[in-house]
Amino acid sequence: MKAYSERGKLAIKNGWVICPMCGKGKILKVNPDTIVHHLPRPCKRCRQEIIVNIEAPEPASEETSA
Ligand SMILES: [Zn+2]
Repeated sequence: MKAYSERGKLAIKNGWVICPMCGKGKILKVNPDTIVHHLPRPCKRCRQEIIVNIEAPEPASEETSA
């Protein structure tokens, strides 16, 4: 899964997208197959609104990476 906002890449911890502004707030719960396109999510901690993008997971490439 690849999550990013307008400002850059977003971290995901324990199935939650973490707020890039304060680094603590959980702004969106995601599943491994979650796809989100330009979804504004407010952070309850710092009250910043983050535009969340989550791309489709890349095909499993355990041994096939060139
Ligand atoms: Zn925050």
